[in-house]
Amino acid sequence: MPNQVADVIVVGAGNAAFCAALAAQEQGAKVVMCEAAPEDESGGNSRFTAGSIRVVYNGVDDIKTLVPDLTPAEIETTDFGTYTADQFFDDMARVTQHRADPDLVELLVTKSFDSLNWMRQKGVRLIPIYGRQAFKIDGKFKFWGGLTVESVGGGPGLVAMLTEAAKKRGIEINYSTRGMDLLFDGNRVEGIRVRQNGEVRELRAKSVVLACGGFEANPEWRTRYLGPGWDLAKVRGSRFNTGDGIRMAIDIGAAPRGNWSGCHAVQWEMNAPEFGDLAVGDQFQKHSYPFCILVNATGKRFVDEGADFRNYTYAKYGRVVLEQPGQFAWQVFDQKAKHLQRDEYRIRQITKFNPNVKDGRGTTGLAINKSNWANTIDTPPFEGYAVTCGVTFTFGGLRINTDGEVLNTDYQPIRGLYAAGELVGGLFYFNYPGGSGLMSGTVFGKIAGTSAGRAGKN
Ligand SMILES: Cc1cc2nc3c(=O)[nH]c(=O)nc-3n(C[C@H](O)[C@H](O)[C@H](O)COP(=O)(O)OP(=O)(O)OC[C@H]3O[C@@H](n4cnc5c(N)ncnc54)[C@H](O)[C@@H]3O)c2cc1C
Repeated sequence: MPNQVADVIVVGAGNAAFCAALAAQEQGAKVVMCEAAPEDESGGNSRFTAGSIRVVYNGVDDIKTLVPDLTPAEIETTDFGTYTADQFFDDMARVTQHRADPDLVELLVTKSFDSLNWMRQKGVRLIPIYGRQAFKIDGKFKFWGGLTVESVGGGPGLVAMLTEAAKKRGIEINYSTRGMDLLFDGNRVEGIRVRQNGEVRELRAKSVVLACGGFEANPEWRTRYLGPGWDLAKVRGSRFNTGDGIRMAIDIGAAPRGNWSGCHAVQWEMNAPEFGDLAVGDQFQKHSYPFCILVNATGKRFVDEGADFRNYTYAKYGRVVLEQPGQFAWQVFDQKAKHLQRDEYRIRQITKFNPNVKDGRGTTGLAINKSNWANTIDTPPFEGYAVTCGVTFTFGGLRINTDGEVLNTDYQPIRGLYAAGELVGGLFYFNYPGGSGLMSGTVFGKIAGTSAGRAGKN
């Protein structure tokens, strides 16, 4: 093949892309990555995350495998509980209203532990998420939401460790290199046309893995697919995820899949900038709303703040805020709940109030009841936080099979084309269990990279 630069080209340099690149390299393939962002803005949404990853584990021994330097004191003072495959299946089914593709969910759930452990072996270090995912009650931390480990250094740490792992294995990363079109001879994908520092080039390879994110940073596509008003949402993360990978694949006949009108969107600081700010990371989010009341510009409550644990409601409440007059709302706290605000989680006193359980302290007779954590707001000074909608990532994407191959509209694999991460459709509908985005990129990145690596060698 003329001008062949590699066996496998991976488009993007976020979590899914690095996992794909590392897996392809493991198969003996020569791998080149193309990342649209310059190096200082690279890493995609993955870099903006807290690095929290949802993974199946059956007890403390599994946590010890993922976090080998867990201390005896940490083990003694922590109830890690379990997060079984059944729980993960149930969470996916419930939050997606049973729409998620069973084959993709099966892979996500059953491969989660092994894939995360594989990533650890490549050089990603993990720690338990004390504080945000475990409250201390009776002297013991108790994990409550199935989200138990995060990468050391959060999202920036994750991307730095993955970058180092890739470079160490001879994987070349081209920054400021935006994929524009796939090179397709009508039969198979033979590479990609890129714009590299303003110059258009053709890069040829035997396989291409698309791992370049959804269309959340594209206001025109947001309005087109998510609906009117979505142009007004803030983007929580990367400004580079404009749907290019999805467009390139559809241009050569790939089948769209999934919840194209749906996305992950949260309550987000009203005065935050248009896109994420790497210096601030995810700190514009306001996720202690289960312990406050939310009122809109007319002073009305409009949602059940305590319907479930934060991990199972936060990703759908951004949309609800966007629908309010002026696209904003106030989170109103009193002093009794102040200690529960996420950045200040320092629970010292034990009271009957227990945020680790859905406590059933609900209201009755209101136009919209609050199901759990419905404490009175009577202890001044009261605090109000203005929030708007921050879009995280879009759910619609490409149809893939269980080998990570992109399918055409006849549901046949497009030879030489693979996909992973945000741009895969069919996994998330309406809502999302926190920490599944990174896990999806890890599981499907590894699968796509392995398949592409095998094909790329031949
Ligand atoms: C603020 C925030 C916090 C989050 N917190 C968490 C969390 O704690 N846990 C969790 O699981 N998920 C979290 N998420 C979701 C998570 O970020 C995503 O699900 C996941 O990172 C997606 O990985 P990815 O590799 O598919 O995409 P990305 O990490 O976004 O990577 C896509 C890459 O493709 C590049 N790119 C785009 N277009 C092109 C092109 N045409 N050519 C070349 N490169 C291109 C981008 O620059 C980017 O580097 C969070 C998201 C945000 C925004």
